Amino acid sequence: MKYWNHRMNRMTEYIPGEQPDNIEEYIKLNTNENPFAPSQTVLSAIKNAANEELRRYPSSDSRSLRMAFAEKNNLQYENVFVGNGSDEIFTLIFRGFIEPDGLASFPYPSYSLYYTMAEANGIKYDKVNLNDEFDINFEDFLVKDYDLVIIANPNNPTGKSVDVEKIQDFLMNFKGLLVVDEAYVDFFGETAINLVSSFDNIIVTRSFSKSYSLAGLRVGIAIAHKDIIRGFLKLKDSYNVDRIAEAGAIAALLDEKGFKYNIEMLKNNKEYIENILIDLGFSIVPSKANYVFVKHAKMKSKDIYEKLKRKKILVRYMEGAIQSDYLRISVGSMMEIKTLIKELYSILEA
Ligand code: PMP
Repeated sequence: MKYWNHRMNRMTEYIPGEQPDNIEEYIKLNTNENPFAPSQTVLSAIKNAANEELRRYPSSDSRSLRMAFAEKNNLQYENVFVGNGSDEIFTLIFRGFIEPDGLASFPYPSYSLYYTMAEANGIKYDKVNLNDEFDINFEDFLVKDYDLVIIANPNNPTGKSVDVEKIQDFLMNFKGLLVVDEAYVDFFGETAINLVSSFDNIIVTRSFSKSYSLAGLRVGIAIAHKDIIRGFLKLKDSYNVDRIAEAGAIAALLDEKGFKYNIEMLKNNKEYIENILIDLGFSIVPSKANYVFVKHAKMKSKDIYEKLKRKKILVRYMEGAIQSDYLRISVGSMMEIKTLIKELYSILEA
């Protein structure tokens, strides 16, 4: 297209999981959303924020949410930045935290938006293959002087996680900027937030889209050294997070009971689906997130995906050297899982 710049013409497009228009007709296990609705407390806070004050701009730096998150995590609010989803935070990182001729690197396979965002901003990068067990070998990120490394912990799509101790060891030797994307950490992972007080070259990102059931609200958090946070504030759009989103996220942080209940239910559902999938002949990558990365001994992942889709069940199939052997299935409600299993039985029997 002649009005696109050369980067846009060349870049590969990010392909999000399908979001069909008639979404209510589907069982949707393809984008790792939370199957449970936000609690009534959170919904009320969101509804109450839809008031006459909407004629005013929101806080330019989401100060109340920064303070609430800081208090909950024993941080100073100066260590916390709020973005329009964690995706916005990655955009800002590529825009301002690496020189145009810098070199980034990301594990492969991982969240493909990293590759897309790097390309959109003209940043060169290496894809560093995970090993055969889908684990990160941190040595691989020290073979060149990378300016920026982003890892997802737990990783998407594999669900595997790395120990925070290993991240700490890596930081002892790494001179660039390390981003640890903890979009899924609340489920069963271990956070690296504590490393922020010892290292000025780590950014930890969090999302309200998964464990807090608020993907539709678009709120993400970055935790880092104060000077990094000042950089985010300098780079961001003038009012990047709206009033309703800030109110909803604060209520979600305060609603500990609802949060714990939600995670507990998902834990049960995850164990349940893992056991049945194993019985059905799938091999499963041990996941610390709200999804499982699986492949069947006899049937191709793409065929299973297409057959399930015909039955209005969406799971995630991705093209790619490694991904196309697998399916990524989000942990749903018990009813969704049971319907999925029933359909899988009949597909595999046929
Ligand atoms: N990081 C990872 C690893 C993800 O899988 C996703 C969701 N697809 C995100 C970040 C995006 O999170 P958010 O909705 O906060 O932008």
